[in-house]
Amino acid sequence: MTDEELLHAETYRDRVSTVTDTGKRKWVYALKPSGKWFNYRRALAYAYLTVFFVLPFIKVNGMPFMMINLPAGKFILFSKIFWPQDFFIFAIAMITFIIFIVLFTVVFGRLFCGWVCPQTVFMEFVFRPIEWLVEGTPTQQKKLNDGSTTGEKIIKKTIKHFLYLFMSFLIANTFLAYILGMDEVVKMIKEPIANNLGLLTGLIFFTLLFYGVFAFVRDLICTTVCPYGRLQGVMFDKDTMQISYDYKRGEPRGKFKKGETRSDGDCINCHKCVQVCPTGIDIRDGLQMECVGCTACVDECNDVMETLHFEKGLIRYASENEISTGRKFHFNNRMKAYSILLGILLVFMSILIGTRKTVDTYISRVNGQLYQEMPGGNISNLFEAKIINKTKEEIPLTLKLEDMDGTIRLVGADQIRLKCESINIITFFLEVPHELLKKRSSTIRIGIYRGNEKIETVKTKMLGPFI
Ligand code: SF4
Ligand code: SF4
Repeated sequence: MTDEELLHAETYRDRVSTVTDTGKRKWVYALKPSGKWFNYRRALAYAYLTVFFVLPFIKVNGMPFMMINLPAGKFILFSKIFWPQDFFIFAIAMITFIIFIVLFTVVFGRLFCGWVCPQTVFMEFVFRPIEWLVEGTPTQQKKLNDGSTTGEKIIKKTIKHFLYLFMSFLIANTFLAYILGMDEVVKMIKEPIANNLGLLTGLIFFTLLFYGVFAFVRDLICTTVCPYGRLQGVMFDKDTMQISYDYKRGEPRGKFKKGETRSDGDCINCHKCVQVCPTGIDIRDGLQMECVGCTACVDECNDVMETLHFEKGLIRYASENEISTGRKFHFNNRMKAYSILLGILLVFMSILIGTRKTVDTYISRVNGQLYQEMPGGNISNLFEAKIINKTKEEIPLTLKLEDMDGTIRLVGADQIRLKCESINIITFFLEVPHELLKKRSSTIRIGIYRGNEKIETVKTKMLGPFI
């Protein structure tokens, strides 16, 4: 090792690789990746981008396929509406998702970051290609940035940043369509600007945010901002699959001269793996938090190995144990425990979704109202029923008192017809003979019927005088 390499080997973990000795940012001019893994990633990214931009347009039976309207508390997944009352399903789904992420990370490391994280997909397959197209190769980009301001520089920078802003605007609109639905976004576009000033401000804010992230912040999101990236350290173990440099095979590294009989390791110290890395690290230093598992260095090194007629895979997907002991990947106890937990949660969630009610009823006495003594000795209480119809059709309903004599008189209506996909408020008087109310507050059961089919039974409390 040279003195410089020795110093680097001892100090590289002391600071982020993209920061200079004086604390300034080192801009990453990553080489354009190419190779088998890059082709797989690109195919996946194009499929991903297609789904992302097309999904808000898709409707099933007039219902968006997916909509996450947080302000209105309305969520549509697979064209099924979920209400805040289904919150527990969301809570379980979130816990399941977190366990899935943990398990996935324990087994596959940062595979998510390199392959499907929106930051990586948009950066590497939308914004960086725009940069290559307008400003050329990384060497040309550096020359352009370091050079003085010329007409060519102004034109190229203007085109690039205009395209960046346009793409950011498109992404912000698509996100808005996931929140409000595409119909609402189209309506907003057609209406005068003054009608939607609030939304427009949000749209401009997010456009500028995405633009800032992809034009300037870039790899810093992965190396310093993203909390998932910061948590990797506690989730990894020695059996976690990750992008690894096979130091046993590669060291001692050294230059390769044509025709030489190699006595050193297989790494010829060409630095191609470093030059292609979008986070600017040297994977040969070992596992680092900055590695997003993008496989660019794998492709680049394989290319070098192929040219030299060496075996490929000097950098590859492998666990720390596989590199140090040669033992192939195995599913350890920690992974088994997470898998069992994940299985249990998935079953539980399936049961919750399978048994999810399409009509939810909540009945309570109207606030501030006591009981009324009616002529003939009956006691009457005023109730309010909040009935949520989660289906896409109007539902005729009847309320019946269960296990007790009495009558239900609707206020302001002869019958109940639940509007589709909405919360219906029904007010009614419940009248029962005095002698049936044995206590000051008695539990009563009200059946909710659709025709002759009972949908559910709801318990509530009825007030009466002491007997
Ligand atoms: S690309 Fe391969 S051979 Fe070249 S420096 Fe990296 S690990 Fe060594
Ligand atoms: S070290 Fe390799 S896999 Fe990790 S971010 Fe850099 S190029 Fe991608």
